[in-house]
Amino acid sequence: MATAPPAATTADHVYNFNAGPAILPRPVLEEVQAELLDYRGTGISIMEASHRAPEYEEINAQAQERLRRLLGLGEEYAVLFLGGGATTQFDMVPMNLLTPGRTADYVVTGNWTQKARDEARKIGSVHVAASMEEERFTRIPRQEELRFSADPAYVHICSNETVWGVQWPDAPDTGGAPLVADMSSDILSRPLGGSRFALLYAGAQKNLGPAGVTVVAIRADLLERAPKDLPTMLRYATHAKSKSLYNTPPVFPVYVMNLVLAWIEETGVDVIAERNRRKAALIYDAVDTSGGYYRGHAEPGSRSLMNATFRLPDEEKETMFVREAAEQGFVGLAGHRSVGGIRVSLYNAMGLEGPEALAQFMPDFAARHG
Ligand SMILES: *Cc1c(COP(=O)(O)O)cnc(C)c1O
Repeated sequence: MATAPPAATTADHVYNFNAGPAILPRPVLEEVQAELLDYRGTGISIMEASHRAPEYEEINAQAQERLRRLLGLGEEYAVLFLGGGATTQFDMVPMNLLTPGRTADYVVTGNWTQKARDEARKIGSVHVAASMEEERFTRIPRQEELRFSADPAYVHICSNETVWGVQWPDAPDTGGAPLVADMSSDILSRPLGGSRFALLYAGAQKNLGPAGVTVVAIRADLLERAPKDLPTMLRYATHAKSKSLYNTPPVFPVYVMNLVLAWIEETGVDVIAERNRRKAALIYDAVDTSGGYYRGHAEPGSRSLMNATFRLPDEEKETMFVREAAEQGFVGLAGHRSVGGIRVSLYNAMGLEGPEALAQFMPDFAARHG
């Protein structure tokens, strides 16, 4: 390249509210850039190295240990780095855990749990413990609304429904049944006590890194549940036995994720959680004080700290909002194509400045287009 890219200025003027793939911590991107051509004196890029080389084995082990520490998981958990996105876990979870004669319970709180439920039905017997479909996914069910089957194989939830912007304030009590959670869009955004989950999974591209790797943490006692004839690559036990190096892992995404995990450790999950609360409060306050111009989708007790969703008086104004906001450097604000409206994604790597600036833009836009 003839001239240096205007990286610093661009980043200064763009606030990335994309829902996923999403913003990454700036220091991580700079580190990736600095060691892209020569990984720590090896003379080659980490992308060009063998996944059996000590350099990569160290990254792999570090990322697993960091996740274990940050999620508060003991040695009884295997931490896996798989391909296929979180969506493949909609299949792998029931394939491994929903054995013949058993029933799995699903709590349906939005698009992602609808998909997970539908996939599980292809594998075995599914019971819907609660569905918020008729209320258009405006809230998380209360504990007393959950109707579990007798002795479920597991209970599946999605901790944060990215599309609608509803988030569990806390994990539900399953009465001892193994709890499985899709945490793709809020993993490590708050201290949630990973050991309360028998299995958790997350596509990396919202809070952990670039697209291409999915994190799965599974308690060891669940590893041997899978039917004997389940294909090798689809068995959690295959990956657990080989430290998630059974075949070529997504080397580059795991490498970047490991740097993001180091950044989370340095910052502290508590600090990140507090910042996430403040960021979301800025946006929800702008909604609540707009005199009804902005209408929040989720009920206050179920509002997501990661994806704030709201509507404007009509779709034309929503289109204008997205366009004018983009001109001011606020990118990625259009709601998911299935629901429309506005979605402000506020993942860990987003600082306070973006939401602060957006919270000023919102009343200004409402005044001009009231
Ligand atoms: C993005 C997302 C998914 C889908 O992830 P892929 O990696 O694209 O398969 C699943 N669940 C939730 C909660 C998500 O936010």
